[in-house]
Amino acid sequence: MFQNLQDKLNGAFKTLKGKGRITDVNIASTVKEIRRALMDADVNYKVAKDVTDRVKQKAIDRKVMIAVEPGQLFVKIVQEELQELMGGMTQTVNFKGSPAVILIAGLQGSGKTTFSGKFASYLKKQGKQVMLVACDVYRPAAITQLQVLGEQIGVDVFAEPENKDAVSIARNGLAAAKAKGKSIVIVDTAGRLAVDEVMMTEVENIKKAITPSEILFVVDSMTGQDAVNTAKTFNERLNFDGVVLTKLDGDSRGGAALSIRTVVEKPIKFMSTGEKMEDLDVFHPDRMASRILG
Ligand code: GDP
Repeated sequence: MFQNLQDKLNGAFKTLKGKGRITDVNIASTVKEIRRALMDADVNYKVAKDVTDRVKQKAIDRKVMIAVEPGQLFVKIVQEELQELMGGMTQTVNFKGSPAVILIAGLQGSGKTTFSGKFASYLKKQGKQVMLVACDVYRPAAITQLQVLGEQIGVDVFAEPENKDAVSIARNGLAAAKAKGKSIVIVDTAGRLAVDEVMMTEVENIKKAITPSEILFVVDSMTGQDAVNTAKTFNERLNFDGVVLTKLDGDSRGGAALSIRTVVEKPIKFMSTGEKMEDLDVFHPDRMASRILG
């Protein structure tokens, strides 16, 4: 995960190894290398520029700290900035309401259904009464996929395979969850291969009908700069609350996904690192920043 970024950053720091003192010259060259590393890893140009401008300023401000090796100083500063880039603090999910409604949105294939199952399993382990609602009316296989996952993890799945109106399924699912005394409802919506007006209107209407306490946008970390653009569009229409980064187990360069936080100003809340139900983790910006600099 983020191997490419990690390798490139370490390369930039290496040039400082053995240099006893930090100078304006080696600050400038290291900052340049760091910017190149971020951009090679698909970090959005403006984000990479802002981050490295801040790294440079901090390095200049702290260069008098002669007790610290220049290499270490840069690692520390870059770690702080990466953590900030990824959202600073670990974020929580809002479970307001009885039941609390969580809406899952994103493109087809991003990992929505898999995440919905994982999230349901994660909450069930915390003792919550969860129901999954299958609102993908375009892909019959999506309903079956959710039902199979539900059975596997022991969570009820609400589906109406004959109903083609996703908004009414969402409403009916919420009513069923209330009747069964569930505390959390996770609504899995339909995605398309690219953003399209019908899908956006549908998911907006679902949002209006069931007033979720939390909307999570699921994005495939392998999709590069497209991930940032998709996030922007979904955010403009849905004003989502958090991002779920999926497929971090792949060899994605990951930088585009890291840019989402800054570009849409919404935090990354979860990351998914595999297809199995237990491959879900809460996203901790501090741990991730340390890992990238590993
Ligand atoms: P949806 O169309 O958004 O509901 O996407 P799915 O949940 O059906 O996922 C699409 C494909 O990606 C499936 O084959 C999943 O098994 C796979 N997938 C989902 N999340 C991950 C992940 O974190 N890592 C990997 N390697 N595969 C994933």
